[in-house]
Amino acid sequence: MNIILLGPPGAGKGTQAAKLVASRNMIQLSTGDMLREARTSGTEMGQKVAAIMDAGELVTDEIVIGLIREKLEGNAGGGFIFDGFPRTLAQADALEKLLNDMGQSLTAAIELQVNDEVLVGRIVNRAKEAAANGQPVRADDNEESLKVRLMEYYKKTSPLLGYYYAKGQLRTVDGLAEINEVESAIARVLDNS
Ligand code: AMP
Repeated sequence: MNIILLGPPGAGKGTQAAKLVASRNMIQLSTGDMLREARTSGTEMGQKVAAIMDAGELVTDEIVIGLIREKLEGNAGGGFIFDGFPRTLAQADALEKLLNDMGQSLTAAIELQVNDEVLVGRIVNRAKEAAANGQPVRADDNEESLKVRLMEYYKKTSPLLGYYYAKGQLRTVDGLAEINEVESAIARVLDNS
């Protein structure tokens, strides 16, 4: 089974992906995590994307598709959770092709449906909690970047909802429910797919 978790920043994609890794032994592929790793290890690509990420803009399709391609090549068995990818129609097309080439397909694109007010609150909270626990605060978890991230989502990523709907692959769950309820709703989608 290969699924996409779709939703704006703060919708809970990372939280739910981690749960699926634990409960179903799936493989989480988060392009945001991969890009942050590239920055931490100081690769040329990491340096190139740093300012773009901090501003809340999307990095190029070429870079993220390259990252995903590498990971897929290293894990032929499947069971992928795509978290934060695809974020553009070009990325969605590229993903379909990559999976096809491996003899795999997409099981479902699961939308975590939320509203903007809740998102802003969640992200501000995430930053506060990290700071209180002495953990690093994401450089893009501030109000300015958040506005850009939301706009990027609506302009470039939200068309994917229509794209997967048209393919019959879109499933929607209420991302505002309690974490465990969202987890159960996703489990139901997977068990019925
Ligand atoms: P995330 O952790 O998914 O919120 O991603 C953090 C940042 O990494 C985003 O704001 C973008 O700058 C960049 N990023 C992550 N995934 C992608 C993607 N699929 N396409 C373009 N940029 C991405």
